[in-house]
Amino acid sequence: MSKQILHIGIDDTDSPKGMCTTFLVYKIINRLKKENVDFLDFPNLVRFNPNIPWKTRGNGAVSLKISTNNPTKIKKLIKQYVTQYSDVKNGANPGLVFCQDGNIPEEFFKLSSDAMWKLIHRNEAKKILSKHNFDFFYLGNGQGLVGATSIIGYDFEDQTYELLSYRKTSHFGKKRSLDKHKVKQMQEKTYPNTFNSFDSKKNKLLLMPHGPDPVFFGIRGEDSQTLISASKMIQPKEKLDGYVIFKSNQGTNDHLKNEIDVNAFLPYTSGTLNGIVDSKPVITKGGHVLFTIFTQSKKIPCAVYKPTKITDVAKELIVGDKIKVGGGIRKATRTLPRILNLEFIQILKLEKKSKLVNPLCLKCKKRMKSKGKNQGFQCVRCKSTSSEKKSQLIPRYIKKQLYIPAVSAHRHLTKPTQRMNQKSKTETFNPNSGWVYNF
Ligand SMILES: [Zn+2]
Repeated sequence: MSKQILHIGIDDTDSPKGMCTTFLVYKIINRLKKENVDFLDFPNLVRFNPNIPWKTRGNGAVSLKISTNNPTKIKKLIKQYVTQYSDVKNGANPGLVFCQDGNIPEEFFKLSSDAMWKLIHRNEAKKILSKHNFDFFYLGNGQGLVGATSIIGYDFEDQTYELLSYRKTSHFGKKRSLDKHKVKQMQEKTYPNTFNSFDSKKNKLLLMPHGPDPVFFGIRGEDSQTLISASKMIQPKEKLDGYVIFKSNQGTNDHLKNEIDVNAFLPYTSGTLNGIVDSKPVITKGGHVLFTIFTQSKKIPCAVYKPTKITDVAKELIVGDKIKVGGGIRKATRTLPRILNLEFIQILKLEKKSKLVNPLCLKCKKRMKSKGKNQGFQCVRCKSTSSEKKSQLIPRYIKKQLYIPAVSAHRHLTKPTQRMNQKSKTETFNPNSGWVYNF
């Protein structure tokens, strides 16, 4: 019997209390190694719209592409894994989708690109799965079907890689420890081919999670071989179980490709807008900055949150500045309307900032004094007069450039500065390249 392609999409098997869909895939990969299957690509880790309400941990789906001469057996095996390892009792709503013939219907591509920037209801996913007779499976309310279906139709335009290492079961939930100095050195040695492992400003590790999940560290970068050598430089004391390298859209700003529809201005959608600053930025008690921009005859309220540190930029904006912004729309609250939460500010044109000052006496080079309300100005030394104040330019402390959040406030999809003008490398998958490893 000839081998058939099997594309497997999995999402939402985890909960904030533990487990992790990437770890489930790591376990599945190790199990599949004992079967007669060929791996056709890196497992994919695709982050969809981060600005949706029920995802606290980054809205990521995972997929595998293999060939097998016994798809029925493999599908049964994977269903067992998803059932056994999904944290349904703590709120996981896993979805599992199998695409068997390698021909992906057009609707899957559409769903995938929509899932990148808006809210998709699980019934939409179920509808196209049933229509095209796909084999799928879910538990709980089946919300995971959205990611599991969307990842089947996902096409990479830009990609990065992440090496995720996993702990031994006996260490789950215990404190992680790594040598900061080694991570810092690794980052310096591998720059710009790895990113966001270490925050040198805060002297803080970024590559290590703190929760109870099985991940020990994750190194992000541009190609698998750099990640493998980077992982060797870290030398953790804890004996780990193994690692897998995922191909991902992390660090690509994938959710900010579309322009926001200002007329609908739908909550939970993501995108960008060009506009003109329309109100003086206000700093809230919590240190966040609020202002509005004017675009397509609409006033759009914008918010910049303090942890992003681009509040320092936002508070310097003045009415008339031309900017491009991007982010997600937050739903209205009791006291606030729908607001665009900014994930970057790009300054396109700075308005001249000026203030009115007392006129200068050109002879004495001194500022004149006011003679009283509406009575003009006079030089104290030579007595020459002038009727009105003069406008004086004030320097701007922001520049015509792109401002993105501080590294410590980056989300999975945030494109780091170093990747901005970089053309991403496409790496051919080599099944024997060490993309999965057990220590
Ligand atoms: Zn004078």
